[in-house]
Amino acid sequence: MKVFDELNPPERLLLGPGPSPVHPRVMRALGAPVLGHLDPELFRLLDDTRGLLRGAFRTTNEQALAVSGTGMAGMEAVLGSLLEPGDRVVVCAAGFFGHRMAELAGRMGALVTKVEKEWGEVFTPEEVEAAVAAAKPKAVAIVHAETSTGALQPMDGLGEIARRHGALLIADCVTSLGGVPVEIDGWGVDGAYSGSQKCLGCPSGMAPVTVSPRAREVMAARRRPAHAWYLDLELLERYWGGPHAYHHTISSTLVYALREGLRLVAEEGLEARWERHRANAEMLWDGLEAMGLVLHVPDPARRIPSLTTVRVPDEVDEAQVRGRLRDEYGIEIGAGLGPLKGKVWRIGLMGHGSQKANVILLLAALVDLLRRP
Ligand SMILES: *Cc1c(COP(=O)(O)O)cnc(C)c1O
Repeated sequence: MKVFDELNPPERLLLGPGPSPVHPRVMRALGAPVLGHLDPELFRLLDDTRGLLRGAFRTTNEQALAVSGTGMAGMEAVLGSLLEPGDRVVVCAAGFFGHRMAELAGRMGALVTKVEKEWGEVFTPEEVEAAVAAAKPKAVAIVHAETSTGALQPMDGLGEIARRHGALLIADCVTSLGGVPVEIDGWGVDGAYSGSQKCLGCPSGMAPVTVSPRAREVMAARRRPAHAWYLDLELLERYWGGPHAYHHTISSTLVYALREGLRLVAEEGLEARWERHRANAEMLWDGLEAMGLVLHVPDPARRIPSLTTVRVPDEVDEAQVRGRLRDEYGIEIGAGLGPLKGKVWRIGLMGHGSQKANVILLLAALVDLLRRP
C-alpha cells in the first residue's frame, strides 16, 4: 500500500481575486461536528443564515439562501431560474464575467442582446436604458464589481429603468458583497448572487443568492421547469424554507462557515466594513502610484475597493513577478484575463484580507521584486 505524505499545504497570503484569507473564527467553525441535512438544529442554523444574508444584501426579500457551489453556481441558479428558452435578455458586458453571463444565458436558450464596452469601463444609465428600450427583454443583467477589470458599476437608477420597461434587474455581486456597498432593495435588484470566498472571508463552496418577490412571481409563472434541477431556486426554497423538503445533502460544514463569516460581517457592521475596505484600498492605490505604477481604472470612484487592477510595466515579466511573490513571500495575486492577460496584476483586499499590514507587506514585496529583476 502506498502511504502518502501528511497533508501540509503552504500558508499563502491570498491577495488575489479570490479565494481570500479565511478568518480564524470561520476556520474554527469548519471543525464543528457534522450535522445531517435534515437535522432540526441545522434548520435553525439555515434560518440564522437567511437572516444574516438579508442583512448583508440589504434586502427584505423572503428568498435569501445559499446555493451549494461557488459563485458560478449562483450565476447559473439566478439566470436559470428566471430565464426560459426564447426569453429576451440584455447582458451588459465590459469584462470577463459580463461575457460569461451572456454565454450562460445563451446556453440556456435565452435570446441574448450583449451590450459591450471596453474592459475597465462601466455603463451609464442612458446606455442601459437604450439597450433595454430597444430589446424589450424579460431581464437585464449586469456585473456590479467586474473582478476582471477592477471597475465598479454604479447601480443607481438601473432598477427604475428595468421597471419602466417591465424587465427584471439581475446583478452579479460576487466581489462586492460584504466589502463594497450593496443595496439590493435600494437599487431595485430582482436577482443577485455572490460567493463565499471573496469579501465574506469564507472558503469557496456556498453562493449567496436573493430574489425579489417580483422575480419569484416570474419563477412561479414559468411555462417549463428551471434549466437545472440542482440549481432550481424554487426547489431550493422548499429545502431552505418552510417544508424543509430534502433536495440535496447540503454541507453543514460549509453552512457553519458561511454563517460565521456573515456573523463577522454583522458584528463589524456593514458600513464599518465597507469603510475598512475603502481605506485599505486607498492606501494600496497611493502606494502603487507612489512606486510609479499605473492603475487600470483611472477614476478612483469607479474602482472596486476589494479588487485593484494595476498595469504591468512594459519591461517587466508579469508571470515572473507573480511567481516570485508566491515563492519568496508566500503572497498570491492574480493575473489578467482576456484582453488584459499579461497586462495587469489583480490585487484583492477582500474580507479578512483587507488589512493595513497586508497592504504594507505587498507594497514592500513589489518594491523589492521590481527593483531586483
Ligand atoms: C469570482 C467571480 C465569479 C465566479 O465565482 P466562482 O466562485 O469562481 O465560481 C463570478 N463573477 C464575478 C464578478 C467574480 O468575481
